[in-house]
Amino acid sequence: MNHPLSRLVPRILLASLLYCLPCTLALAESQLEFEEAETEAADDENVEDIESSKPLRKNIDNARKISHPDQAEASEDPEPSSKTTKIAPHIDLKELAPPPGVQSFSPETEASETTEPEPEPEPKSKTTTETTPEAPHDEGTATVFDDQAASAESADEPNIDPTEEVAGAITLLGTEIMPGTSTRLSWSSGMQIAGLSQSTPVLVVNGSKPGPTLCLTGAVHGDELNGIEIVRRTLYDLDPEMLAGQVIGVPIVNLQGFQQGSRYLSDRRDLNRHFPGNPTGNLADRIAYSLFNEIISHCTMLVDIHTGSLKRTNLPQLRADMNIAEVRTFVKGFDRMAVVHSSGTTGMLRTAALDAGIVAVSMESGESLRIQEKQIKAGVNSLNSLMEKQNMISRLFVWGKPEPIHYDSYWIRAEHAGILFSKKKLGDRVIKGQVLGVVTDPITNASHAIHARDTGRIIGMAVDQVVMAGFAAYHIGAETEIPDEE
Ligand SMILES: [Zn+2]
Repeated sequence: MNHPLSRLVPRILLASLLYCLPCTLALAESQLEFEEAETEAADDENVEDIESSKPLRKNIDNARKISHPDQAEASEDPEPSSKTTKIAPHIDLKELAPPPGVQSFSPETEASETTEPEPEPEPKSKTTTETTPEAPHDEGTATVFDDQAASAESADEPNIDPTEEVAGAITLLGTEIMPGTSTRLSWSSGMQIAGLSQSTPVLVVNGSKPGPTLCLTGAVHGDELNGIEIVRRTLYDLDPEMLAGQVIGVPIVNLQGFQQGSRYLSDRRDLNRHFPGNPTGNLADRIAYSLFNEIISHCTMLVDIHTGSLKRTNLPQLRADMNIAEVRTFVKGFDRMAVVHSSGTTGMLRTAALDAGIVAVSMESGESLRIQEKQIKAGVNSLNSLMEKQNMISRLFVWGKPEPIHYDSYWIRAEHAGILFSKKKLGDRVIKGQVLGVVTDPITNASHAIHARDTGRIIGMAVDQVVMAGFAAYHIGAETEIPDEE
């Protein structure tokens, strides 16, 4: 069938491309808006986003690359606190910390008013050219200096040991963190009533050697607790002297949701649909904007840690857009983690990070509202392997058997309401037609089995519970060979 319109459309597009570039852009934009509206309805990362994921491209070599915005673009949104900075006291993250005072790193904050926990001596100076890097600093003094002058100085600074590369200080949340030190900062989006403002900890380890900046975020959904512990253990186990690059960890991003045991913000919005945010938008937009600009924009790599939602549990796995070459390389660094291709949804932290040139994946491990030791260990292990692979640490990591990459996955929904009893476990391999679980109506006693549609592996599933018809019960990763690429 060759409808006349089908011949006409490419010509119109070509003509508009040649004669009316703005029209073409407007057309593309309206298409984008349409797609956004379509995906906005999704409120469950585990199910609808997987179902709406764009498939893997046939010709993987032509896959798109992450566009890295250049410095000029990146500096369009200057940090609100870039005018004055103070030097962070070195804090051994393994030691007990006093409860932090409420801090806000808004532009109004006076650097000298810091209520940082007890500082330890000698944050190594790099900004003072007159002294060697080992020179002790004034204990606990919040040194205020001009940011631009400092960066100019560090650029000109001669290397002490020409054979060894020297790491630089980093500035985060209005604070200068010296190389070879770790510290605990705090971030607040500043959206609360003055005096009721609560900040969430930001753990920073700035290695003594140069390297990439890895960011770890937990509890973007406030009820997903495993990630909080994964971030804490990973960060607290790092020795800044032995680290190349920086690791920035935000264990509890959605503090509001965390306090209420809720996935959502206090306005019932899903924060993970509002990145990179908007300073003049709704509450979620503004919180997302603050996090993204204050912290995420400093990262070169991001792992956003989640769990299953709504009484579903996930096998430790990465959600990754395998259409992007850098992401395909990045996921090879994660030991014993299945990889599930998912193109992501507009507004997700990982999607926004990718758009900003940051290599990003989501990590899923276990279920919400629980602390699960096995899943936490899996996450920490995999992040350690990643840092080893990125040459950030050297611990002679012992790699396990590679996990498969699932380029395609699908959810099987319950067709009947009742009580679900699973016959299979997370990680089980299943073949077409096999019974995954049985839903029994407690009133009529009628039982209905749920069958596997295809061969695959259970990478996510509902825990035994009362289900309604349509409840997504089993997430099956299509059986995929481990690809030999590059
Ligand atoms: Zn989540």
